[in-house]
Amino acid sequence: MKRNADIREYIRAFYQGNRLNFALALLFTVLSTGGMLFFSWVLGEITNIITAGSLERLGGTLRFSAVAIVVLLWVELLMYRFKARFIHQALRQYKDLAFSRLAGKNISAFSRENTGRYLSALTNDTNSIEENYLNRTLLLVFYCAMFVGGLAMMLWLSWKLTLAAGLLSLLPILCSLVMGKGLAVREQAVSDQNERFVSQVKDFLSGFSVIKSFKAEQAVTDLFQSANDSTERTKERRRWWEYLLTATAEASGTILQMGIFFYGAWLAIRGEIDAGTVLVTLNLCNCVIQPIQIIPQYQASRKAALALIQKLAQITRENARHAGTAIPPFLDHSISLSHVAFGYAPDKPVLKDLSTRFEAGKSYAVVGPSGSGKSTLLNLLMGSDPDYTGSIAIDGQELRAVDTDSLYDLMSLIGQNVFLFDDTIQNNLTMFRDFPDRQVDLAIKRSGLSAIVAERGMDYRCGENGCNLSGGERQRISIARALLRGTPVLLLDEATAALDNQTTFDVTDAILHLDGLTRIVVTHRLDAALMEQYDQIIVMKDGRIVETGGYRELMDAKAYFYSLFTLAA
Ligand code: ADP
Ligand code: MG
Repeated sequence: MKRNADIREYIRAFYQGNRLNFALALLFTVLSTGGMLFFSWVLGEITNIITAGSLERLGGTLRFSAVAIVVLLWVELLMYRFKARFIHQALRQYKDLAFSRLAGKNISAFSRENTGRYLSALTNDTNSIEENYLNRTLLLVFYCAMFVGGLAMMLWLSWKLTLAAGLLSLLPILCSLVMGKGLAVREQAVSDQNERFVSQVKDFLSGFSVIKSFKAEQAVTDLFQSANDSTERTKERRRWWEYLLTATAEASGTILQMGIFFYGAWLAIRGEIDAGTVLVTLNLCNCVIQPIQIIPQYQASRKAALALIQKLAQITRENARHAGTAIPPFLDHSISLSHVAFGYAPDKPVLKDLSTRFEAGKSYAVVGPSGSGKSTLLNLLMGSDPDYTGSIAIDGQELRAVDTDSLYDLMSLIGQNVFLFDDTIQNNLTMFRDFPDRQVDLAIKRSGLSAIVAERGMDYRCGENGCNLSGGERQRISIARALLRGTPVLLLDEATAALDNQTTFDVTDAILHLDGLTRIVVTHRLDAALMEQYDQIIVMKDGRIVETGGYRELMDAKAYFYSLFTLAA
């Protein structure tokens, strides 16, 4: 597998500050294979003692064994201790890195991507990486050491018998090599299917109230069953392959052991070796065959786990915040659009040939029927997608070359979808930062939150995604939050849609009276008293700007805005 820079970063996260744990885990792993060799040796020794009938030798072997067992127990204990430490730190660092990469993504990434795959990458896949990558890396070393140790001891006892064992073991090696590849393919299929399953279940759960109110339980249950069925079927295919692999390995292992048994017996009868050697060799054969069977399997699962790491590396890289020129956190002159066109799909333009200017400190209303591209325009201004044509210049600096972090210091977008933490109103307003009380009070007043705060207090808990608040209250919190941030440019996308007429009026009026801010407000409420306050109204239709002007001017023109307005009234 080609390891690109992304995947290397994640592998490095396993070992960072963790090398000593890893090295000690390896050391004690290698030493622990001594246990297997020791028991083989005792087996041969006892066989020969029985044949010789020497009680004195028996006592000596007993004393030696007692000491060896204590030493071996300590070795094992230390091995597990350091292994646990290594894995703990490796997984923690791996997930932390993944999350910090996710947090560094572009704002729009999460509205467009399926979050199910992140969930699966940080949960299921991590379990698989622990087992198949971290654990098996250590186990691979264990088996390699066991192989080398076992083979060395066999050669020392009888090279003839070892040679025969070598020839016979070609069989299991071939089996493992051929079938191990198939396992990796099936392992990948299971992970892909799991990801689909998680995202489907997530959809079912998040759409629960819709499902209930439309009485769609049966249809959704059927969909779930079919998703469940294909998931289990994919797992079944992997399980079956695993079983086949084990079965073939066992069969060829038996052939090997039988071969050694009979050839060893023949050598012993001819007096070339003693009975103990036959038994020890037979026993050691396990130390040699097991690694041969297991190493390719483990290599395959390590590859599959690497593919999971690769997948994570890839999804955390997509839509990463794009670095560019940093712009200052203030607007001197204007944001100016010239022949801007944009579409989500290549052949379906959503915005067509937009040219307009948003001057610093002024307020703009963007109106138009639903689907005319208003939200797309605001998202584009927030740097959601650099793939537009034409030019969007912020004080002369082309938007697609702007560092998104610095852009977020210049503008905030208040949308219809409000995200609230399961925390207090205070923390949801300040987003865990410190602001002077006076500033917080002002934002609360302007966003129409005063009554709620007076009644419930700043320490009122909003609940999971704000479930303890009404839609209108949530919206006002998000408005207050943006006002508190105080970026010089404020974009509102139907941010008052969930508020009643009076509150909408009050909040919008307060925002229109914020001097010095550049405001671009998408609204579908065509209220004359508010419309009159905007410096300019931009009317959109089918992705184009069809009219611009002040309220009076547009009404007098009796064109598209006039018809929208009279229709709404
Ligand atoms: P408005 O806010 O004026 O109602 P939008 O900007 O949301 O309009 O949508 C304009 C058009 O772009 C619509 O046809 C809509 O279906 C399409 N659209 C919006 N968002 C996406 C998206 N993420 N992917 C593909 N098409 C989209
Ligand atoms: Mg919209």
